[in-house]
Amino acid sequence: MDYQKILDEIYKEVKPYIGKGKVADYIPELAKVNPKQFGMSVVTLDGELFSVGDAQKRFSIQSISKVFTFTMALKMYSKELYKRVGVEPSGTPFNSLVQLEYEHGKPRNPFINAGAIVVTDSLISYYKDEFITLENILGFIREISKKGDININPQVAKSEMEHGYRNRALANLIKSFGNLDNDPITCVETYFKHCAVEMSCEELAHSMLFLANRGTDPLLKKEFCSPTQAKRINAVMLTCGHYDASGEFAFHVGLPGKSGVGGGIVAVVPGKMGICVWSPALNRYGNSYAGTIALELFTQKTGLSIF
Ligand code: GLN
Repeated sequence: MDYQKILDEIYKEVKPYIGKGKVADYIPELAKVNPKQFGMSVVTLDGELFSVGDAQKRFSIQSISKVFTFTMALKMYSKELYKRVGVEPSGTPFNSLVQLEYEHGKPRNPFINAGAIVVTDSLISYYKDEFITLENILGFIREISKKGDININPQVAKSEMEHGYRNRALANLIKSFGNLDNDPITCVETYFKHCAVEMSCEELAHSMLFLANRGTDPLLKKEFCSPTQAKRINAVMLTCGHYDASGEFAFHVGLPGKSGVGGGIVAVVPGKMGICVWSPALNRYGNSYAGTIALELFTQKTGLSIF
């Protein structure tokens, strides 16, 4: 299949939608991003890379980082992790507090904010220090994306630290139920920092290869998780990766995927490739408007959906 031709076609067809929607403004630093940008990359298991638009430009990965932290925690704790965080879709927005109260501080899944904060807490307990935890998260991301200079944007992290009242509330509520071992503010600060990592579409598409290949990166020839864990991570991406729009994403795109409020979406075609699309303006669920359309076009044109 001529993936370059397909990406070029998608770019043309998606142009009227680029800039539609709204950039995330609850993190003031993200509100400054030009919404009229678009990039998309596909990397196959044998390392062939196809890109279009602003695919080399780094952006704030935000909730896409939750895939990396979940993978790390799953490796460390295995099934034990599910005692603290579930694997069911929440049907609620990413920053919702309501369900957490009813369900006694156990978040539905690792991809809503509450779940990701618990996962971050589990990493801090493992490494026994929040700075060492961040270094290890960064190290993991650099390794799977094969780029040693990936970093956190400190302004974005600070901006969220100053305005992240809901996330602070989530952490405090979880702590009140006894489901955080560490100080809640330390947990959210570490969480904000890993959300503020910046990567390009090309780097993020590369970082998905291990999930497309049963846990082993085919280019590095290194196992990052077991085949069973890769299956589970993909399953949770499919059912929970887009919050209360996860059903719609499965319906229209039909691939495991994870979005972030920076406008990025990663997707996995099992046995074939890693994909990333980026366009900063978001739909009402907080997922990239043009990015979602581009992925739908991709699966339509290629027939590469898991269904
Ligand atoms: N850091 C963001 C937050 O906690 C991440 C949310 C997202 O990307 N959906 O609100």
